[in-house]
Amino acid sequence: MATATTQTNERLSSVNPATGEVIGSVPIMTAAEVDAAIARARVAASVWSTRSFAAREEELVAFRKALAASVDELAELLHRENGKPLLEAYTEVMMALGHVQHAGARAGKALEPRKVSAGMLANFRATISYHPLGVVGVIGPWNYPLFTPMGSIAYALAAGNAVVWKPSELTPLIALEVEKIARRTFALQDLLQVVTGAGATGAALAKSGVDKIAFTGSAATGKRVMAAAAERLTPVLLELGGKDAMIVDSDADLEKAAEAAVFGGLTNAGQACISVERVYVADAVHDKFVEEVVKQVRDLKIGGDDGHLGAMTSPAQVSIVKDHLDDAIAKGAKVLTGGPDAISGSYIQPTVLTNVDHRMKVMTEETFGPVIPIAKVSSIDEAVKLANDSRYGLGSSVFAGKAARKIASQLRAGMTAINSVMAFAGIPTLPFGGIGDSGFGRIHGDEGIREFTRVKSTAEQVMSIPLNMMTFRQPKDAVKRMRGMVKQLYGDGVISKAGDFFRKLR
Ligand code: NAD
Repeated sequence: MATATTQTNERLSSVNPATGEVIGSVPIMTAAEVDAAIARARVAASVWSTRSFAAREEELVAFRKALAASVDELAELLHRENGKPLLEAYTEVMMALGHVQHAGARAGKALEPRKVSAGMLANFRATISYHPLGVVGVIGPWNYPLFTPMGSIAYALAAGNAVVWKPSELTPLIALEVEKIARRTFALQDLLQVVTGAGATGAALAKSGVDKIAFTGSAATGKRVMAAAAERLTPVLLELGGKDAMIVDSDADLEKAAEAAVFGGLTNAGQACISVERVYVADAVHDKFVEEVVKQVRDLKIGGDDGHLGAMTSPAQVSIVKDHLDDAIAKGAKVLTGGPDAISGSYIQPTVLTNVDHRMKVMTEETFGPVIPIAKVSSIDEAVKLANDSRYGLGSSVFAGKAARKIASQLRAGMTAINSVMAFAGIPTLPFGGIGDSGFGRIHGDEGIREFTRVKSTAEQVMSIPLNMMTFRQPKDAVKRMRGMVKQLYGDGVISKAGDFFRKLR
C-alpha cells in the first residue's frame, strides 16, 4: 500500500491514495517561517480590520467568484489528493463557497453593535460591540480539506481578521491552490496565507502569537493544541471527532431512513466527522430496515472517478477500521456486507453490521470508515439512552413520525437532522459544532462569525441621577437608602412586586 505522505529533504509529498502516484510536494515549514507568516498577516489585519463590512464583502465576493471559476481544478485536486469521487469533490467546493457567500453577506448584520437594557442603571446607555481579533490560525484535517477549514477561514475573514492556515499534511496542495487564488483576488497579499508541514508545523502555529486557533481534527490532537495554546492563553475553537447516532422509530419512512443511513454512513467513504456511525432501530421495523439498507448498499459502485465510494485517504485509517471490524466480529457482530476480509489496499467495501452493542469499539469509538452498525432497540427511550452513551456529541439524526422533534430534543449533541442526515452542515445560518470530546465553539451561523471577534461592552452615562453608586461622595444616610433599595428592588418591596406583576402579564 502506498504511504499517503512521505517526508524527504524537508518537503512533504502529496500522494493520490487511489493510485499511489505522487502528485506534488510542499515545504515543511519551521516555527520561524510560521512566525514570519503571522507577522505579515498582522500587517494585513491592521488594514483589513479598518475596512467597512461592505468593502470586505466586495472582496469576499471576488474571492468566491474566483474560486467558482476554478471549480474544475479545485475538484480535480480534491479528487486526486483525498481520493473522493468527483461528484463528492464538486459538492465539497459548492458547500465551501456557500459559506464564503454567507459569511461575507451576513457579517455586517451579525456584528452590528447592539443596545441592551441597562437595568437599574437606567441613566446609562449600554451597548455591545464586536471587534476583529487580529490573526486567526486555522489548522485543518484531510477528510474535507476545503469545506472544513473554509468554515473557519471565511467567517474569520468576514469578521475582519487575517488568517494563517495549516492544512493537513495529507492534503496540502488544495490549500496552496486556494492561497494562490486569494493572493490574486484580495488587495492584501498576506490576508490568507498557507503554512505547510506536518504536526510540528501545526504545533508551531498553536504555540505562536496568533489571536485565536481554530482547530479541526481528532480529539487527541485537539487536546495537544489546547495545551499548547494555554501557554499564551490563546483562545481555541475545537471541531473534533464524532460518533453520530441515527435513531429510526417504528413509524419512520423506512426506505428514506435506509437511504439516509447509507448516504450518511458511507459518503466520503465514511470519513466525515458527522458520518452516521451507529444506528438504533425500533424492534418492530429492525429487520425490514436492515434488509433495505443491505439492498441499497449492494447497488453502490466502489472506486473509479464516478464511484459512490472512493479510496480511504489515509492508510492509518484503514487499520483503525479493520481493528474495529475485527473487534466487533470477535464480540458477536454479524457481517451482512463487506467486512475485514473485503479490505483491499486503500479500498474498504461498505460494511453493514448487525448484532452490535456498546462493548464494541465500532459502537463507541470513532470508526471513520464505510461501516454501518445497526442495533435493535426495544424502545425509543432505550435508543435515546444509547445514543447519548458517548463521550462525543457532534451530530445526530432521527427518522420518526410524530415523536421526531421530541426525540431530537433529547439527544445530547451539537446538531440533529430530522428525517434527513448531515443537512445542518449545509445550512450556513446554523451554527456547527459539538460538545464533550467533539469539542467546543461554533463555526457557521452568527455564532460562527462572532467566534472570531472580541466582545466589547460599553456603559455610557447619558444623564445624572441623584443616586450615583460610582462615587465615594455619598449622603450620610446612604446605608439606610441602600438597605431600602435592596428590599424594594429584590425583596418584597413595591417595585419588585410591580416587576413580578408585569412579568406575569407577559
Ligand atoms: P488530526 O488530528 O490527525 O490532524 C489535524 C491537523 O492537526 C493536521 O493538520 C495535523 O497536521 C495537525 N496536527 C497534528 N499534530 C499537531 C499538533 N501537535 N499541534 C497542532 N497541530 C497538529 O486529524 P485528521 O486525521 O487530519 O482528521 C480527522 C479527524 O478530524 C477526525 O477525528 C474527524 O472527525 C475530525 N473532523 C472534525 C470536523 C468537525 O467539524 N468537527 C470536521 C472534519 C474532521
